[in-house]
Amino acid sequence: MSASLKLPISSVLQGGYAHPLSREWQARKKIDKSMLMYPIFITDEPSARVEVPSLPGQCRWGVDRLEEFLGPLVKKGLKSVILFGVPLNCAKDASGTPADDPEGPVILAIKKLRTLFPDLYIACDVCLCEYTSHGHCGLLNGDGTLQAEPSANRVADVALSYAKAGAHCVAPSDMMDGRIRMIKQKLLDAGYANRCLLMSYSAKFASGLYGPFRDAAGSAPSFGDRKCYQLPPAAKGLARRAIQRDMAEGADIIMVKPSLPYLDILADAAQLAPDHPLAAYQVSGEYAMIVAGARAGVYDLRAMAFETTESILRAGATLVLTYFTPQFLDWLDE
Ligand SMILES: [Zn+2]
Repeated sequence: MSASLKLPISSVLQGGYAHPLSREWQARKKIDKSMLMYPIFITDEPSARVEVPSLPGQCRWGVDRLEEFLGPLVKKGLKSVILFGVPLNCAKDASGTPADDPEGPVILAIKKLRTLFPDLYIACDVCLCEYTSHGHCGLLNGDGTLQAEPSANRVADVALSYAKAGAHCVAPSDMMDGRIRMIKQKLLDAGYANRCLLMSYSAKFASGLYGPFRDAAGSAPSFGDRKCYQLPPAAKGLARRAIQRDMAEGADIIMVKPSLPYLDILADAAQLAPDHPLAAYQVSGEYAMIVAGARAGVYDLRAMAFETTESILRAGATLVLTYFTPQFLDWLDE
């Protein structure tokens, strides 16, 4: 045999992952139930259970149905949820007054969930767009431009109301300048900064993947778009600056959203914020895309849910907001 047909030792890797168990050892970090946060939609119709057609398997739920909805999942090991309010019957106005209505769906749901499931971690998305008459995430001037400081101030008031109602975490998704500092200060002044976590949607891009969510939440803007506050998809440097700004302003967790087209940003965030937990939101359009591909026979749903989530962890996330959470609770037990 000629020497050229002998593999040099430095070429041989396959022995290291030949067994199913040794394949698992190759992961730096594996999916576990504690890193999955389930996004849920709460409406102001207390008995509602309405399917969202563009988000297969997901529903808008009324407060009176939360026990039936989440009870079985908590038994299977669900650790955390993030609430999105979907007001259908309230009078929306320019400043999003219904966002922190004490009788509104989010505040009622926080209180109900704290009572029903004392061990469940409750995060709340904080934004105004579901509650403003114009559907934008901040307050506007007469010409449709944003009022920066009043917007951040209003968002911070809403966050504080959720903290007071019992939310363990407030997560502003509005992308208004200065809102992290404003929220942290208000939490501090009111005595909640030491018991309410602040998770910032730091690098939130103006993505084409939010369509099903807007269906579910009824939050499409009535005019214009959100490009003056959400980041341009190509803006790597801007994302890095936003992450560093939010760390400096007091964010406890940094988030990147969406996840799959922005894995490089996640990797950047892991490098910029190595001492913070790092969240990734696998958004509605990513979920819908994965489900649609599986239904079209392109791949196996479970295999692709694992592969995409593993890619998110590999890029550096330590927490994943995903609509696959209920399925993972089953899959991880098998
Ligand atoms: Zn918004």
